[in-house]
Amino acid sequence: MQASTCTCGKIVALNRELCPNCGKSMTAIELGNDVVVLTYTTLYTVSEGFNAPIFLVLVELEQGAKLLCECKNENDLEIGRKGKIVVENEKYYFVGNMK
Ligand SMILES: [Zn+2]
Repeated sequence: MQASTCTCGKIVALNRELCPNCGKSMTAIELGNDVVVLTYTTLYTVSEGFNAPIFLVLVELEQGAKLLCECKNENDLEIGRKGKIVVENEKYYFVGNMK
């Protein structure tokens, strides 16, 4: 899982050029794919071209980095649920671990 780190201590998911906290250049790092669900929401009203419902989860990666991504399985919507991030068609999805 790509992430970026800054000398100010901020770590964010994905490759970011500039730190959202202090504006300095960030350094690319690699974090593990293991994540845990912090919170989630279900969107029933979506823009044209999208199929409702969309399950959105905010997950925490290693070192406290956070990522907002979609989840395909409603059964994975649970705070504290552990799982992995998978990439499909350049989009990130949360997939819960086997229970
Ligand atoms: Zn910074």
